[in-house]
Amino acid sequence: MNSPTFPTDFEGRKPDEADAAKALPCPCCGGGSTAALYHVPSIPVHSCVLLNSAEEARAFPRRDLQLAFCDSCGFLFNQIFDEAVMSYSGDFEESQHFSDTFSAFAKELAREIAQACSAHGKHVLEIGCGKGEFLRELCRISGATGLGIDPGYRTDAGRDEEDDRVQFITDFYKPSGQFDADIILCRHTLEHIASVQKFVRSIREGIGSRTDPWVVFETPDAKRVLAEGAFWDIYYEHCSYFSPGAHARLFRAEGFDVTDLRLRYGDQYIVQYARPIATGPSRPRLDLEDDLAEMQGLAKSFPSRVRIVQDEWRERVRSASAEGKRIVVWGGGSKGVSFLTTLGLDTEISAVVDVNPYKQGKFMPGAGHRVIAPSALVAEPPDLVIVMNPIYRAEIAKTLNALGLKPEISAVG
Ligand SMILES: [Zn+2]
Repeated sequence: MNSPTFPTDFEGRKPDEADAAKALPCPCCGGGSTAALYHVPSIPVHSCVLLNSAEEARAFPRRDLQLAFCDSCGFLFNQIFDEAVMSYSGDFEESQHFSDTFSAFAKELAREIAQACSAHGKHVLEIGCGKGEFLRELCRISGATGLGIDPGYRTDAGRDEEDDRVQFITDFYKPSGQFDADIILCRHTLEHIASVQKFVRSIREGIGSRTDPWVVFETPDAKRVLAEGAFWDIYYEHCSYFSPGAHARLFRAEGFDVTDLRLRYGDQYIVQYARPIATGPSRPRLDLEDDLAEMQGLAKSFPSRVRIVQDEWRERVRSASAEGKRIVVWGGGSKGVSFLTTLGLDTEISAVVDVNPYKQGKFMPGAGHRVIAPSALVAEPPDLVIVMNPIYRAEIAKTLNALGLKPEISAVG
C-alpha cells in the first residue's frame, strides 16, 4: 500500500544457506525459539514495481522466501531475507487510492486518527508516506501540519493538490535526534523492515522524555493470513509479519503503552494507537493482545492448510483454462504478483486488471503479465475474474456490470 520506508541503518540478516537449519534469534523479541514453517522458491524481490516490457518483468531479480515463526512472541519473518536486493524508488506504484472502496476507508481512518489524537494544530510525522495521499488528507481535515518521508515519494501532475501545510522528503527515514512531531504515523511500513525491534526502539528514543506524542501504526494482520492459508499475502517485500498481539507486545516491550488495538478494512489491517511511557515496559490489557496460544496453534497447522489452498486454486485455474476460458486477475499489486508467481501461473491468465492508471500498460514482475484498464476488457471479455482482495468484490462487480460484462467473479480469501 504505502510505499515502504526502508531505513538503510537497519541492517537485515544476511542470507545464509544454513539459516534454515539454525534457530535464528527473533528480530521482534530477541528470543531464540524460532522455526521455519513455509518456503516459497524464486519469487520477485519487488511486487509494486512498474516494468515496461514482459521481458524486463520476467528477468526481474528473484529470491526464495522462508517464513519462520517465533514461539515466544508470535512474530513471523522471512529468515533468509536479503536486504541487499531491495531498492525503493519513485518507480514504485503502490497507491490504492484509485479504488473508491480504499479511498473511503482512508478518509474514514484519517477522520478517526484526527479525532483520537486531537490533531488540530498539531504536527504529524509520517514515516513511509508513499505518495502522500493519506497525510494530505489528515492535515486537510484536521488543520494539522505534516512532514512525510518516503524514498518512493513522487509528485505527479494531477495527483497532488498544493498544500502548504504538508512537506515531503524523498528519502529513507533515518533516526537522528529528537522528533518535534506530536503524532508519529507509520502505515504499511513496519512489515518491510527486517530489524523491527531496533526500528521501534529508535522511534521510542526519538521521542525522548515526552510522553504526550501519539504513535499510530497500521500493519497487515498475519493471524488472518495463517488462519486462511492466504499465501497471496506472503511476498518478498514483506519480511516481517505481525498478529495483533505480536505487534502490541513489541511496542509494550520498547516503552509504549498500547491504548487501542483494532482490526480494520475487513479485518485485514491492524491499527494500533500507542503513547510513550516514562519507564517501560507496559503490561497487556487489550483483548486482541491475548493471541499467543492461538498463533502457536495456527502456525502449527499452517503448512498443511496453505498447501490445500494452493492446490485448490491451481486446479481451479488450470481446469478453467483447459476449458478454453479467458481468465483475468483483478489487482496488479503485491497480492496479484504473489498469487501468480507462487502458483507458477503463466499463459492460463490472459491479463491483470488494475484501476490505477499508473499501472496500466505496464507488466507484472515475475511471469510478466500485462496490466490493463477495466475498459480494455470490453474488447476481450473475460469468463472468470479472480479478485485479489474480497473487499473490492462489490466495486469490481459494479464496474464489470457498467461495462456490460457478466463473467464469473471469484475472490481469494
Ligand atoms: Zn519473538
